Amino acid sequence: MRASEAIFERAKRVLPGGVNSPVRAFRAVGGTPPFITKGKGCRIWDLDGKEYIDFVGSWGPLILGHSYAPVLQAVEKAMRNGLSFGAPTAIEVDVAELLVAMVPNIEMVRMVNSGTEAVMSALRVARGVTGREKIIKFEGCYHGHSDAMLVGAGSGALTQGEPDSKGVTQGAAGDTLTAQYNDLHSVQALFDANPDEIAAIIVEPVAANMGVVPPQKGFLEGLRAMCDKYHALLIFDEVITGFRLARGGAQEYFHVRADIVTFGKIIGGGMPVGAYAASREIMRQVAPTGPIYQAGTLSGNPVAMAAGLAQLQILDQNSGYYTDMERKAQAMAQAMRNSAEKHHIKLTVNQCGALLCPYFTDDPVNTFTDTKKSDLEQFKQYFHGMLARGIYIAPSQFEAVFINISHKDADIAAACSAVDAVFADL
Ligand SMILES: *Cc1c(COP(=O)(O)O)cnc(C)c1O
Repeated sequence: MRASEAIFERAKRVLPGGVNSPVRAFRAVGGTPPFITKGKGCRIWDLDGKEYIDFVGSWGPLILGHSYAPVLQAVEKAMRNGLSFGAPTAIEVDVAELLVAMVPNIEMVRMVNSGTEAVMSALRVARGVTGREKIIKFEGCYHGHSDAMLVGAGSGALTQGEPDSKGVTQGAAGDTLTAQYNDLHSVQALFDANPDEIAAIIVEPVAANMGVVPPQKGFLEGLRAMCDKYHALLIFDEVITGFRLARGGAQEYFHVRADIVTFGKIIGGGMPVGAYAASREIMRQVAPTGPIYQAGTLSGNPVAMAAGLAQLQILDQNSGYYTDMERKAQAMAQAMRNSAEKHHIKLTVNQCGALLCPYFTDDPVNTFTDTKKSDLEQFKQYFHGMLARGIYIAPSQFEAVFINISHKDADIAAACSAVDAVFADL
């Protein structure tokens, strides 16, 4: 038995499904997940010593690659002074100032410990500021696992074939209204039915938890206009798109202003960090200056801040990284299309910035309903073919391929030739 199989047996006795987050368990694709021992650049190694080129990057955070020296050094340096104080530290101010400088339309920030927490808190702020209770979200968009957001959620919930969760009360779910991504009429219908009750629209500016579905022209602009008309707030959940599409995230990439922005993943450089940010007017409403309570014992943790600061500084100073990642993502998407054509496979590849996703259908994929047309049996075969050839992609159709700085052209080429070999066998 392989070492990963042996430990997965042990894991399943003490962790539900053998994991601490559901998609890791490989339920959607079958088989045993490799247990990872280390990573360097775009490569990871498992317990059995097998090497992979990694296109998950911890689900996005590691945009500079694994074990990036300046990030590790910053963590080591911070760690030697102690792990946590529960009192203010200077580095929290450094990170907040850098965020405000990098991201458009934000003036103040609150640090939290995960993307889930960032979203949960942003929703409270939106409700507190507007005095309204209802939230519009989009089917297939994932915003973490807080009660109100486990309605029509993508990713893990989708993969498990269980869009909702047991344990979420009617009360928590009842104020969440769901619309269709890339369909402004569905949003208008919700405003028509609840004109003075909607506190906010929350959206992934690029939907990246139902594969990758970019916003069609006018969609984000339309949401902005409706929020203005009905005095609702627009929340961009930039937990994936933040610092990935551009230095300033989706607001910069698409030139659309959000009222509240949530961050996670890249912001922590691989450590557990999230944040939400907005104008000073909105953020002053948060405790201790305002009546909206939100707190965290380990929030702004100095070691986590050190990792995030080091990574963000490098992104801030190298705007050329974004064009480089986009070029590689485009090359990989095009190579996939070419192989599919060569081997007569129905395939649509969506790509936006450093994110891409192949769907096994020849119909265009612009909505949540479209994503369901992908042939999941073919995805499974493709996934295992890639894994066997040492290419590690997310074990679910409804996740992105994450390109990062550490992928060299040769790594992209290796992945593309694996795709070609796998497609030849499908
Ligand atoms: C991952 C993700 C979250 C949740 O972040 P966690 O750190 O896993 O809690 C929220 N929103 C989006 C868009 C995400 O991709």
